[in-house]
Amino acid sequence: MQGITFPGDGRVVLKEFPAPQPGPGEVVVRMRASGMCGSDLHFYRGAVSFGGSADTIQGHEPCGDVHAVGEGVAPDTASVGDRVMIHHYWGCDVCEQCRSGWPQMCDRGNAQTMSITTHGGHAPYAVVPARTLLPLPDGLSYKAGAAIGCGTGTAWGGLMRLGDIGGKTLVVFGQGPVGLSGTMLASALGARVIAVDVNNSRLERARAFGASEVVNSAEVDLSTTIADLAGRRGVELILETSGVAGADALSILGKWGRACFIGLPGEVHFRTEEQYKKQWTIMTSWTMSTIQQRRCAEFVVEHGLPIDDLYTHSWSLDQAAEAYEWFDKQSDGKGVFEF
Ligand SMILES: [Zn+2]
Ligand SMILES: [Zn+2]
Repeated sequence: MQGITFPGDGRVVLKEFPAPQPGPGEVVVRMRASGMCGSDLHFYRGAVSFGGSADTIQGHEPCGDVHAVGEGVAPDTASVGDRVMIHHYWGCDVCEQCRSGWPQMCDRGNAQTMSITTHGGHAPYAVVPARTLLPLPDGLSYKAGAAIGCGTGTAWGGLMRLGDIGGKTLVVFGQGPVGLSGTMLASALGARVIAVDVNNSRLERARAFGASEVVNSAEVDLSTTIADLAGRRGVELILETSGVAGADALSILGKWGRACFIGLPGEVHFRTEEQYKKQWTIMTSWTMSTIQQRRCAEFVVEHGLPIDDLYTHSWSLDQAAEAYEWFDKQSDGKGVFEF
């Protein structure tokens, strides 16, 4: 089979790989949708290396059907034909982080990540431990399951870190696939969302996904515009997904504000001397736990959220070069490889 690889110089190379076989405790998933995530661009451009290699199949938003089951996998864990999402990390299984659903934070440093340390979903088949599988609810498409596997799930994880957002004003910086998901999920959770970006077509989409107000920070003065919108209470909550708006975000955060920083590379500076009287809570967030991924999928079904509409482009594997050239412009919506 062929899989998408990145040499790290802004090119895409389709390489030949043997069809995977499931070892003990493993399953082979027949990929149906494999999403393009903003963090792919770090590897595609070669600007950031997280230890991946040019021989690793890319894609960490995999979703599909169980195709083959290895020895020792119980039928109620995985059976051929099951529709599944994949939590795209696995660890030692026994440390505190792994046991609480955060294998990416494995205390023993054993974490495996699809597309970095092991092959990802940008190929017709992928082999993963059966314990990484989560059921794809009937009401969700494969590409919705793919989005929840990283981009949309990352927005959910950040909102869960912020906590208690219903009835409050939340400013979401960046309206790419993660930010737009944040806008949609937060609106459904009862927050009043002000969406910020520098691209008007992305802001139009944010409005369609539930933003109460949209602000183009390249066209207006951010502080005065937000102050007018937020009123005397100021901004209570911030979700920063762009990776470049750290200073802007803190400049508008009000008293008792809580801010969650997701976007990479991201720099956030503040002097406690100047800010301590505001009683801020500043936090980071890294994707989501296994439990949060499942809960996010259930929430999307319960609220009938239009996850499929996050996608503006669908590609086949042999269009991979064109697909990443388009995605690299970061001016449109989300893309997905469908099989
Ligand atoms: Zn562990
Ligand atoms: Zn991702």
